[in-house]
Amino acid sequence: MEEIIKGNYKGDFINFKGIIHFRYFECERKDLIETQTGELIHKNAYNAFIEMQKNAKKEGINLFIESGFRSVEEQKEIFPKKFKNKFMPTEEEFYSRLKFSAPPNFSEHHTGYAIDINSVEDDFKDTKEYLWLFNNSEKFGFYNSFPKNNKQNLGFEPWHYRFIDDETKKIFKKAIEL
Ligand SMILES: [Zn+2]
Repeated sequence: MEEIIKGNYKGDFINFKGIIHFRYFECERKDLIETQTGELIHKNAYNAFIEMQKNAKKEGINLFIESGFRSVEEQKEIFPKKFKNKFMPTEEEFYSRLKFSAPPNFSEHHTGYAIDINSVEDDFKDTKEYLWLFNNSEKFGFYNSFPKNNKQNLGFEPWHYRFIDDETKKIFKKAIEL
């Protein structure tokens, strides 16, 4: 557990009691664009997001990027935050953290192609914004990474979307084909 938390684990994926996280690499800083909320997103996904946002707006739905690109270093800070003992959580603490958060080197946010939209609170699933995304986001290339009963066995994250096109299909291949 400790090497996973510290970001030193070298495997291509983690499978902890059935919860699966895949390794992702950080995109290059030159490929990132700053969005209206100050969050960064890969430049190749930017126009698709703006297009989706525009279309949503026409129907009275306001979408914004709550969280975009995240570096491995940032994830090293975020992941252990909820543990009482930073690098030595109980197995139970570790398991429940893995359900909703990726350890450093294993977050889709490293790629620049994953975004959290509007709110990372559980009740986002009950909003009209989520309903709109459920019905429309795939038309713009944004796929909910962790729907209910996903094969990675993560918790349902109605706010988290990965951008899929011919290029990024390769990046997310293992997760898509699981
Ligand atoms: Zn996310």
